[in-house]
Amino acid sequence: MTKAPELTKTKFDVRRIIGKIEGKHPGPCIIFFGSIHGNETSGYLALKRFFDPAVTRNISNKLRGTIIGITGNIKALNEGKRFIEKDLNRIWTHENLARISKHPELFDGNEYAEMRDLYAEINNILTGGATNYYFIDLHTTSGSTLPFVIINDSLQNRALARFFPTPVVLGIEEYLEGTIMDYINDLGFPAIAMESGQHDDMESEDIHFASVWVALVAAGCLKEEEVRGYKAHCDRIRFAAVAEKRNFYEVVYREPVNANQEFVMNNGYSNFHRVAKGETLAHKNKKEIIAEYSGRIFMPLYQSQGSEGFFIIRKINKIWLRLSRFLRKNKLEYVFTVLPGIQIKPEERNVLIVNKKIAAFFSTDLLHLFGYRKVRINGSKVEYVKREIPQYTQPYYLKTEANKQQ
Ligand SMILES: [Zn+2]
Repeated sequence: MTKAPELTKTKFDVRRIIGKIEGKHPGPCIIFFGSIHGNETSGYLALKRFFDPAVTRNISNKLRGTIIGITGNIKALNEGKRFIEKDLNRIWTHENLARISKHPELFDGNEYAEMRDLYAEINNILTGGATNYYFIDLHTTSGSTLPFVIINDSLQNRALARFFPTPVVLGIEEYLEGTIMDYINDLGFPAIAMESGQHDDMESEDIHFASVWVALVAAGCLKEEEVRGYKAHCDRIRFAAVAEKRNFYEVVYREPVNANQEFVMNNGYSNFHRVAKGETLAHKNKKEIIAEYSGRIFMPLYQSQGSEGFFIIRKINKIWLRLSRFLRKNKLEYVFTVLPGIQIKPEERNVLIVNKKIAAFFSTDLLHLFGYRKVRINGSKVEYVKREIPQYTQPYYLKTEANKQQ
């Protein structure tokens, strides 16, 4: 790893909109977020580099649609911190969104103010009449890692993620509440996070920069042959990720950390490092934390701020991916509704309502296969929520070769 200069000490002249390019041809709108976490300078710097006129000169002649770069947590970025008071990537909950739309003036504190700005920007962009909208959230990690993509498990997220020559980790929505991806996915649009490397690694910015070009092709804003050096951009990411190939992984465990707990990760765990059940991974308030599962360690916490100590992930086999795609595309969850006590919620077609007694017989694995990863208790009923949005129309990238094999 080549350590980057002390960027976090630099004061940036930060604007909310880093750049915007409108193409001469109609098409999708692709939105990049950089530095939702303020200590992750890479996303912001890569977007600054991309929107430099010397880099994107003449691009609008070829471009279909619009490209927008947005800064996440401006104050935290200037102070080199993950956040000031609250994690900006954990507050996009239904409760906060309900409050923000009715009483934005009641939102106090830095992150709520940043969220209010971002919320207004996103809503403004979504009224722009694009053929579709794609969101890419650029992040880095505290521990050393190869690049990877992390998604909520829906087919449209998977299809977009598949364009990146990296491992893909899905199912994070079961363990994290209130990410900006959650909000966008709930609106019905694909949104994925691209984690390019460790915060201070100079390569992280290069990989984010290459990822921007890959995402433009994935969204259909440009064709491969219209991007100068497209193969080199792909290779840049592929070589960094080579140790893990393009496997899909699923999150199976999260180790939570509260603000008043002292969490110390044992040294030497890089991302995707294999762990065995029973292995000591960390200490929380001086107590040993033992691996409850065998698998791979994922996003171990090597910084003071953060609400997850680590995750454990497991590789998903290709048959499961294909089967789940088939079941979801053909909306075969309807077979459940022939059973008593099970129905699809009329006002929310992505929700399955199950009588509590019946729910006891439902296996998590089966629900995952159909895409149901969130559970809500509603009186005597259990509601299983999935991210496959009914109004979803097939976007450009599903028709391309890369996704036919998925
Ligand atoms: Zn982050």
